Amino acid sequence: MLRSVFLAAAGSSRMERLISSAPVSKGIVRRFVAGTGVDDALRTSRELADDGLAISLDYLGEDTLTAEQATATRDQYLTLLGRLRSAGLTPAAEVSVKLSALGQKVDDRMAFGYAQEICTAAAAAGTTVTLDAEDHTTTDSTLEILAELRKDHPGTGAVLQAYLRRTEGDCRELATTGSRVRLCKGAYAEPESVAYQSALDVDKAYVRCLNILMSGDGYPMIATHDPRLIAIAEDRARWFDRSADECEFQMLYGVRPEEQARLAAAGHTVRVYVPYGDQWYGYLMRRLAERPANVALFGRALASRK
Ligand SMILES: Cc1cc2nc3c(=O)[nH]c(=O)nc-3n(C[C@H](O)[C@H](O)[C@H](O)COP(=O)(O)OP(=O)(O)OC[C@H]3O[C@@H](n4cnc5c(N)ncnc54)[C@H](O)[C@@H]3O)c2cc1C
Repeated sequence: MLRSVFLAAAGSSRMERLISSAPVSKGIVRRFVAGTGVDDALRTSRELADDGLAISLDYLGEDTLTAEQATATRDQYLTLLGRLRSAGLTPAAEVSVKLSALGQKVDDRMAFGYAQEICTAAAAAGTTVTLDAEDHTTTDSTLEILAELRKDHPGTGAVLQAYLRRTEGDCRELATTGSRVRLCKGAYAEPESVAYQSALDVDKAYVRCLNILMSGDGYPMIATHDPRLIAIAEDRARWFDRSADECEFQMLYGVRPEEQARLAAAGHTVRVYVPYGDQWYGYLMRRLAERPANVALFGRALASRK
């Protein structure tokens, strides 16, 4: 119930104006977002890299409706990659990109062209790009663009969402040599026709997808904070004899940092997904939708407002 309220709020521009301008939002945003500018992204990346963690940086923004906005997002990524390279933070840090932020819904050829430029800059900086997964109406277009990008940049990562009924098939298609695939549960409000609705069904689908990826030839990136799924993934890594450079765990910045440290200390590659930028509203609403405790944090911040 709460999940659907927050996911509906994620798409409401009225709520966005209200919450983005509320001073109390700042505290909770700081917990999940590295900051607003590229300096914040670099500082956070340095801290995480010093702790032995890998990083995927996300310049916040989605559902871009103008070509100008899409161009500005492309420019942000090019600047970021240049700065990461100069700071010696690649290959520890890669970037995550939402095609909708590059104008996928306006003109998917433009989004492809910009993504290609970002992949080229990432390659020059000695790192990679992963294409985030968004709502199901974009999945076909995103996977098509991924296939095109991989012709020149085979290390470009895919994201598959276990809650989508189609995803087991996509896992089979993508579990090939050199193919980097992030498996997550999925963060959008999706209809029953395309997505499993109960937490149990989503978890079961996640394990089926995990089995396909871990037994395949690609490079699985296990993105979850769920202790049961992490334990199963650790078991599969042992079973399929995958070393630290043959799969990785991924978690979001600000979520279960002690578990990130535990997995890294156990010898696994752990990558932290670090969002930055001032377009944090949709991202924050999806985090609140996931976990009642995060909502309580927000509630406490509102209650203690002077
Ligand atoms: C690196 C990364 C990249 C992602 N990229 C995408 C993407 O491209 N597209 C997309 O749709 N979604 C993406 N997601 C989000 C994902 O789909 C889920 O919405 C999100 O990860 C929550 O699911 P979960 O697997 O952590 O499990 P949940 O069902 O949210 O949580 C399961 C359990 O994990 C534990 N847990 C969760 N959060 C906390 C916390 N804050 N503190 C302590 N314990 C906690 C609790 O025990 C909880 O019961 C990404 C997630 C990660 C980690």
